[in-house]
Amino acid sequence: MPSVAAYAAHDKTSPLGPLTITRRDPGPTDVQIEILYCGVCHSDLHTARSEWPGTVYPCVPGHEILGRVTAVGDRVTKFQVGQTAAVGCLVDSCRECASCRAGEEQYCDVFGMVFSYNSPDAHLPGQMTYGGYSTQVTVTEDFVVSVADSLDPAGAAPLLCAGITTYSPLRHWGAGPGKKVGIVGLGGLGHMGVKFSHAFGAHTVLFTTSAGKVADGLRLGADEVVISKDPTAMQAHALSFDLILNTVAASHDLDQFTPLLKRDGTMVLVGVPEQAHPSPSVMNLVFRRRSIAGSLIGGLRETQEMLDFCAEHNITSDVEVIRMDQINEAYGRMLESDVKYRFVIDMATMKNS
Ligand code: NAP
Ligand code: ZN
Ligand code: ZN
Repeated sequence: MPSVAAYAAHDKTSPLGPLTITRRDPGPTDVQIEILYCGVCHSDLHTARSEWPGTVYPCVPGHEILGRVTAVGDRVTKFQVGQTAAVGCLVDSCRECASCRAGEEQYCDVFGMVFSYNSPDAHLPGQMTYGGYSTQVTVTEDFVVSVADSLDPAGAAPLLCAGITTYSPLRHWGAGPGKKVGIVGLGGLGHMGVKFSHAFGAHTVLFTTSAGKVADGLRLGADEVVISKDPTAMQAHALSFDLILNTVAASHDLDQFTPLLKRDGTMVLVGVPEQAHPSPSVMNLVFRRRSIAGSLIGGLRETQEMLDFCAEHNITSDVEVIRMDQINEAYGRMLESDVKYRFVIDMATMKNS
């Protein structure tokens, strides 16, 4: 079994550092991928620092994985050696429940989905799955997607989580022409939300706490940018939104946003902060039949659809490419909302170090 260079959190407080891990030999339906780029998601930080329950150490984060196929099992039909391929947040699921059969593996009814990291690894008993902060991964063909070579590979890596996590709810709740859509937070997810909402033809409004991001918000596709700390600017949008996609990674007051929804409007939460949000006002919901909803990444079918849409419309993430050994600094900047707008690790820098 191959030994692979990786970077891991060894406990919840120490900086991430090198670790050699074991990957399985490719089985008949497996695809082995040399990882070229891996995006840095705020979920990696939440997990590495045990901000969510259940982290098992050592933990190798990373679920925005893009690379080149280096080997395929003899029953693999969709991938060939040399092809560009990608892996997102899931590497398997039960495949039998209603959600899995519907192509919504992320909502597997028996909680049989296997996350790319920090899930028990059925192939290597006693070990957890290890993510993309590493030079190589082996994944079953059904959970590998293909990426057009026309897309910049570093910019395409974040599509595997930030991309699909915003694409899926915008599609599900019908963002498009004639709809007014708000995106809250201009980070990794938020900037992809702005790009997709704009590409789908919705009137797109960015809400940001960072005055320095106004020009970028407009450049990325927002029709308007609102500083969410300005109550007068917020009030000007009361009762006007069909949909608000909230990507904020920290606990905050949801009542800032619910009054901005129209009757029957929905605010979808995709940010999963460590500390719960203060309980939102029920009054704001019942009086206009408004909803607060949640959404988790997207299934494999929709992920491939999103990647094909991005190839057609030349959509990628705005990235800052970093070396593997800059990851701890990147986490620090992420906590300062200082990401423009996704860190992506160049895995060649791990092989060379
Ligand atoms: P990120 O790059 O750090 O972006 C989060 C943005 O939220 C920041 O750039 C900032 O935008 C805003 N923000 C941060 N702290 C804030 C605060 N205290 N009050 C108001 N706004 C604040 O993070 P990300 O990678 O996009 O991830 C965002 C969240 O989504 C994380 O919790 C992550 O775990 C979660 N996530 C969920 C899913 C899912 O399937 N549901 C998938 C991936 C990630 P401004 O500077 O513009 O205000
Ligand atoms: Zn993610
Ligand atoms: Zn299932």
